[in-house]
Amino acid sequence: MSRFWNRRAAGLSPYVPGEQPQIAGLIKLNTNEHPLAPSPEAMAVLSGIKGELLRRYPDPAAQALRDAIAEAEGVAPDCVFAGNGSDDVLAHAFLGLLDPAIPVTVPAITYSFYPVWAQLCEVPLQRVPLTDAFTLDLAKLNESEGPILLANPNAPTGLAITREEIAGLAGSNRDRLVIVDEAYFGFGAESAAPLVHEFDNVLVTRTLSKSHALAGLRVGYAIGASELIEGLVRVKDSFNSYPIDAIAQQVATAAIQDQDWFAAASKQVADWRDELAETLTAMGFRVLPSSANFLFVEHATHSGASVFDALRDARVLVRRWDKPGIDNWLRITVGNEAENAALVAALAEILSR
Ligand SMILES: *Cc1c(COP(=O)(O)O)cnc(C)c1O
Repeated sequence: MSRFWNRRAAGLSPYVPGEQPQIAGLIKLNTNEHPLAPSPEAMAVLSGIKGELLRRYPDPAAQALRDAIAEAEGVAPDCVFAGNGSDDVLAHAFLGLLDPAIPVTVPAITYSFYPVWAQLCEVPLQRVPLTDAFTLDLAKLNESEGPILLANPNAPTGLAITREEIAGLAGSNRDRLVIVDEAYFGFGAESAAPLVHEFDNVLVTRTLSKSHALAGLRVGYAIGASELIEGLVRVKDSFNSYPIDAIAQQVATAAIQDQDWFAAASKQVADWRDELAETLTAMGFRVLPSSANFLFVEHATHSGASVFDALRDARVLVRRWDKPGIDNWLRITVGNEAENAALVAALAEILSR
């Protein structure tokens, strides 16, 4: 606390990201990073970057990147907003599209950054509990008058709803904005992006962090009606005109254009995920059916906290929240074959104690 903090800074409870420890030999399965190397085409662009690119300011509109996304999604470029990771894009949505006078409805268990942005932007939150099966309570979400923000698949459960269910939320009240956070795009959930042609009240956000193995690059984007996108651009141009640096713009553009890498890498992760889910189930874990690159699991006899600590001692890092309803659960990122095997070996030893 400092006497120089203003009321806003003093009132914040900032988001706590998953640890990024620099420990050699650590099996890091705690922040849902992609287990494969990024697209070789994107890496080739990175290798070719010249100093001249950095002498100039980057394109404030990130036009080439937005054109590539627009082409991949079959929308116009003015229906695409690009930002500095999807956290940045979602923060723009809170600032430009949500209103301090109208509560935004979110699932009670979801991405824990939503309440942080709500606090920063002074937007009230209305939390709708999940069902007993950890699924979204669509009927209750639908009762809200104001905007809805949800992650699909949800975090940290990994459970997805269908595009038709999202269309149901958007169609039953066209004055209600529905923001769909598709951070885990590619790993199995249906995307709501095609809905933007029909619904001007649907905004889809995505990130290259998970789907494209580029968490360190910090690029995310939104797809929606051009008027929604313009609202985000107005916020961007009132805060930081150049959020995406020149290197990130070029690398991300190549990554988006390498659709073969994306398809193959997404399928590989989904295959590893399904294998790991089977193995963990056989070891006595309840495993929620995941459409993401992580599994949300609870053991029948060993507490989440004890397994978390024992894995940490075995140099395997996963994620756990001390929150009512999910405090006995672990979220485990799907790693590569060697990482998943190391996880399973550590768990086998822990569970046999
Ligand atoms: C990881 C994640 C994000 C943010 O990703 P960025 O790295 O900021 O692009 C947003 N929403 C959910 C649900 C996530 O899991």
